[in-house]
Amino acid sequence: MTERIVIVGGGQAAVSASMRLRAGGFTGTVDILSEEPVLPYQRPPLSKAYLKGELDEDRMYLRPDSLYREQGITVHLETQALMIDRVKRTVETEKKSKFPYDRLILATGATPRPLPDEIGGGLENVHTLRTLADADLLRDKVRPGQRLLVVGGGYIGLEMAAVAATLRLEVTLVEVQERILNRVAAPETADWMRALHLDHGVDLREGVGLRRLVSDGKQAVLAALSDDSAVGVDLVVVGIGVRANDGLARAAGLTVQNGIVTDQYCRTFDPDIYAIGDCAVFPYRGEPTRLESVQNACDAGDYVADHILGISTGPFVPEPWFWSDQFDISLRIAGLNRGYDRVLTRPGEREGGLSVWYFGKDRLLAVDSLNDPKSYMAGKRWLSAGLTPRQDALVDPNMPLKSVPTEAAFSTVSKATTT
Ligand code: ADP
Repeated sequence: MTERIVIVGGGQAAVSASMRLRAGGFTGTVDILSEEPVLPYQRPPLSKAYLKGELDEDRMYLRPDSLYREQGITVHLETQALMIDRVKRTVETEKKSKFPYDRLILATGATPRPLPDEIGGGLENVHTLRTLADADLLRDKVRPGQRLLVVGGGYIGLEMAAVAATLRLEVTLVEVQERILNRVAAPETADWMRALHLDHGVDLREGVGLRRLVSDGKQAVLAALSDDSAVGVDLVVVGIGVRANDGLARAAGLTVQNGIVTDQYCRTFDPDIYAIGDCAVFPYRGEPTRLESVQNACDAGDYVADHILGISTGPFVPEPWFWSDQFDISLRIAGLNRGYDRVLTRPGEREGGLSVWYFGKDRLLAVDSLNDPKSYMAGKRWLSAGLTPRQDALVDPNMPLKSVPTEAAFSTVSKATTT
């Protein structure tokens, strides 16, 4: 009998799982343990509208306090889980409380990789951007004319650079790899994004790393770069990737490998413990996969609730998608491009829009839609149906996307069944 469900973590995955448990008719206790001081909130706007001051704090919360109460979901704030006792099936928190569970869901998320202290990571004006508290600190500091150095040319770094340039800061972005978005996108997408940032006055330097920050004792004032140049700085934002929060699971003896390893049911090898969201590694197309996306957190949260309640008995079948908004453009990504061996591009319907299509062994893996929503919709539909578009038709700009012929791409994976 499952009567007590404890969820560690207070992000999107935790909220989705808890709400879905109630929607599915679960009548036992649901306790969310969150180390943050505030109720779960949306993260994506932190590096976009919230930082720009276009969204108030009260619009950031995923659900109002009253709803948790109505649903009988107890959110314990400022409550850090310290230890899992898998034999006694309890979670111990720093407040010396013990939360017994029948099923435990780990939704602990990820933490930004910090800049090492030896090169200036601990200085007062050096920031990362992951939490509401991080964004609040930064929000007060992003003032016109300030000189900002962004370290890292992934999506977080680029979003930060875009917001800051819009707010008329002087922005320099350094990316240590030969190009931005090296980990997540093809050169074609990087080229488009680079042009966008250069157009908006961002001083974007690729193949250049941060050697160290020079301080006045408290604040970084100068950044020494790997190409022997230096830039003066008032503010530094570090976006050099994240690490899964898997320490609690590791200490409990669960398998951890760049995240908490789960099976196709989002379950660790301990059948009473699940892991979902940014902290979890699950099989996707035969390979261990960790996704950092809101959509994955929501889907996995819903899935796990259904699985615990026996509503869903099939495996978790992720359908990844991502998005990023920078300046006035919107980037939408459907699928996961891992293992691609061919990239095709197609001009978008809108002026300047573009879609970048990833294929592996002639099968469609993913599409990046750069200000071109129709390609995103088409790509998502094809991927979801296990179809692949004919490549010669896809690159023909005169052929409307809806007329592009398709063929079955992947052997159909059994979908999570709902009874
Ligand atoms: P995020 O989610 O923070 O954007 P990514 O891993 O997608 O994470 O991107 C981080 C980027 O930061 C990568 O492109 C990586 O090459 C870059 N990077 C890592 N370390 C440094 C560094 N010391 N200086 C500049 N760029 C860095």
